Amino acid sequence: MNRRRMHGVMAAGCAGALALAAATAEAGPKYVFFFLGDGMSASQIQATEAYLAKVNGGSETDPNVLAMNRLTMHGGAYLGMQTTYDDGSLCTDSASAGTAFACGTKTKNGVIGMNTGCTTSYYSVAHAAQHFGKKVGIVTSVSLDHATPASYWASVPSRNHMNNIAYQFTRTGFNFLGGGGFASPTGPKTTGDTSYNIWNELASQGYTVLSNRTDIMALSATPMDKVVCINPWLQDSAAMPYAIDTPTGNVTLAEMTQVAIDCLKGHPGGFFIVVEGGKIDWACHANDAVAAIKDMLAFDSAVAVAADFWAQYPDDTLVIVTGDHETGGMAIGNARLGYGANYAVLTNQICSFQYFGANQWPAYKANNPTNGQTMATMNIEDEADGEAKALFETCFGLVWTNLNAFDKERLENAYDKSLKLGSPNTALEDSILYGGYDPMVVTLTHIVNEQAGIGWTSYAHTGQPVPVIAHGPGAWRFGGFYDNTDIAKKIAAILGYTGTLPVAK
Ligand SMILES: [Zn+2]
Repeated sequence: MNRRRMHGVMAAGCAGALALAAATAEAGPKYVFFFLGDGMSASQIQATEAYLAKVNGGSETDPNVLAMNRLTMHGGAYLGMQTTYDDGSLCTDSASAGTAFACGTKTKNGVIGMNTGCTTSYYSVAHAAQHFGKKVGIVTSVSLDHATPASYWASVPSRNHMNNIAYQFTRTGFNFLGGGGFASPTGPKTTGDTSYNIWNELASQGYTVLSNRTDIMALSATPMDKVVCINPWLQDSAAMPYAIDTPTGNVTLAEMTQVAIDCLKGHPGGFFIVVEGGKIDWACHANDAVAAIKDMLAFDSAVAVAADFWAQYPDDTLVIVTGDHETGGMAIGNARLGYGANYAVLTNQICSFQYFGANQWPAYKANNPTNGQTMATMNIEDEADGEAKALFETCFGLVWTNLNAFDKERLENAYDKSLKLGSPNTALEDSILYGGYDPMVVTLTHIVNEQAGIGWTSYAHTGQPVPVIAHGPGAWRFGGFYDNTDIAKKIAAILGYTGTLPVAK
């Protein structure tokens, strides 16, 4: 089913859902989906729809064309807005944000499922779902022990205690875990972490681990009750690849979501399924709009799977879509184009910053040793074989002769620093220009994004409020302006919990 039709399916059901919400909200829906775009706020959503409008043959600024290219998530009947600050920062991280919307309490940056002092541990709404008779599935495009999924079961003073996070999962009894792999499955990730063999712990608790496409997809026909699904190719930090880099033979986020549904839907009590699009955030950290947009589309395709399910069981299915914070300070509009936009330039980028930085650019460096040259003598402009210029054009659509003097100057500076220094970026100027990234790689995406009319202010998260979209019975609770801790409280109420949050373990 295509994206546009999916939007129609959800939008057409709005009137029915409104009546249904009033009649049955207190009973609680049998099936609850919580979709979390990590780093996704209004800018990421709008940029993706503008991109869709452009690639589907229209203009990114034509209101009629934009309306035809709405994301599936925008078919939701209720829209709200959440504040995301944590205990100590206007700009939350994914650990404190996850603790807020999973457990219903503020904590400090880096802490999962505990209070700021790390003296009390809390249950999450996934525990509540399990308590009230639902099966629990958690899907993420990043590693399974990453902060967002971990917030649904783990209590750790540091999100980097990834071995401990994975170990705590093995004791949950949750039914489905799928996406990336484990970042530290056989030993401590960092000081203070545990040292369990996660594979042994999973096996001892009755979990089956699947890691090839055939076995994972077969779950749709032959469901398992306790299963962990790991995508065949893990690109970076045990995460699924960026959508733009995904080779055939992998499992998409949408496919993983479908498999989770098929494993859990036969249960009489229904399910609670969390799906995280985790690399929207990673792409935005690196200020790579194209990689972010492609991961947004993959995330929205997973929402479309839930929308299809909603269309089958509209009286029993609630779909919630939101983000945990904005990342990168992404802006629709920038100083270079003012009121203009030119998203056509985005269509020429063929891979993510990550892929280019791990493949083409290291290969170029190996092929072009700096030897005794100085920064003053190394110039892209003067390169005899034009290898660098060709790479910029092939991978990012940047044609050297079309670039202005300022673009060329920035590329020349980044080229020198990348080849001679790598990416320590210790000088203040370099840390602002390049963040923690390779100067060459991030300058290339900066110029592509600038030409499109997309701005960036940060390599970290920002404190912008984040939209919340909901559809189905109980969705009415998500209208309005509220805090991220209220999301856990609303979900807990929908699941049947009548007390207050957080709940200490
Ligand atoms: Zn982040």
